[in-house]
Amino acid sequence: MENKKELRNWLNDLNLDHPLVIAGPCSAETEEQVLRIAHELKDTDVNYYRAGIWKPRTRPGNFEGVGALGLKWLQKVKAETGLKTATEVANRAHVELALEHDIDLLWIGARSTVSPFIVQEIADALQGTDKIVLVKNPVNPDLALWLGAIERLATADIKNLGVIHRGFSSYEKTKYRNTPEWQMAIELQTRFPDLPLINDPSHITGKRDMIFEVSQTALDLNFDGLMIETHHDPDNAWSDAAQQVTPASLIQIMKDLKIRKESTPEADYNDKLQNLRTQIDVMDNQLLETIGKRMKVAEGIGALKKQKNVAVLQSKRWNEILGKMVLEGEQHNLSEEFILKLFKAVHQESINHQELILNK
Ligand code: PEP
Ligand code: MN
Repeated sequence: MENKKELRNWLNDLNLDHPLVIAGPCSAETEEQVLRIAHELKDTDVNYYRAGIWKPRTRPGNFEGVGALGLKWLQKVKAETGLKTATEVANRAHVELALEHDIDLLWIGARSTVSPFIVQEIADALQGTDKIVLVKNPVNPDLALWLGAIERLATADIKNLGVIHRGFSSYEKTKYRNTPEWQMAIELQTRFPDLPLINDPSHITGKRDMIFEVSQTALDLNFDGLMIETHHDPDNAWSDAAQQVTPASLIQIMKDLKIRKESTPEADYNDKLQNLRTQIDVMDNQLLETIGKRMKVAEGIGALKKQKNVAVLQSKRWNEILGKMVLEGEQHNLSEEFILKLFKAVHQESINHQELILNK
């Protein structure tokens, strides 16, 4: 997909002095709930009111959405509050119904983006539309699959496109519900700087008290907007209860976020610097996480050696590792001196961890 400037037109036309905000409940539950939240979000920075009507649930037996009935409630939202509306579509029938009910923004969910068949069906149903269509990343960290979905939509002559980064599922337990592989968002931005990029901290964190921090990181990485699940009674929401915030918290979050977007040369420099620093912070955190994991493996080795009564320090193996790493380091432009220092320190920490196990 070539980089097309007009991809940004819909966003530029909104002429916002703050990041784009899409907010509203994970799921439309009742007419009263949908209207109540919408009224609480009226006259705030919220640009689009979201509510899931058809809910893709990991396991059967959970609330699967109110279906087409909810589209009428969203129409009422628009009539009563003036808020534009947004919902997820996952097949041709959803698209047709959403268009009939004049939904302004449609998004493709993470579980649909993984399937080229589904994406093609949606693209065909949307052919030529001037509605805004946002594509969430696939559940697995596969940039080509994500871009492939955008290409299918662009080929169907859908001009008002954008992407939503909602994090990636991983087998390992982390502090996130879906790990934000920020690197991938950065790469996407570098390759397609004109593709509007929205962050969904709700599905990334799975927890409302982490939403602010992830939103700030996203803005520091130049994301164009945020999608934040908002409910008047989050604890009793019918889906994603732990990650939804109240309208009052959303307003507070928006107030507290630092938005670096002024147009003086000085501000431009500061924006760029902040962006690069955030990239460094993200990588440093990944480094620490990886080193932490390495120590856990070393402890496993310590436990094995203890069983067999083997000495912790095995210099032959260690010299092999060092030699290999010096060569690997060269490939990444890292000096021998640095590699030796780095791995000496890592090795010493590993020995300390193994000794802790041996002396237990
Ligand atoms: C949602 O936005 O409620 C949703 C189901 O999101 P995702 O596709 O990111 O899981
Ligand atoms: Mn949700």
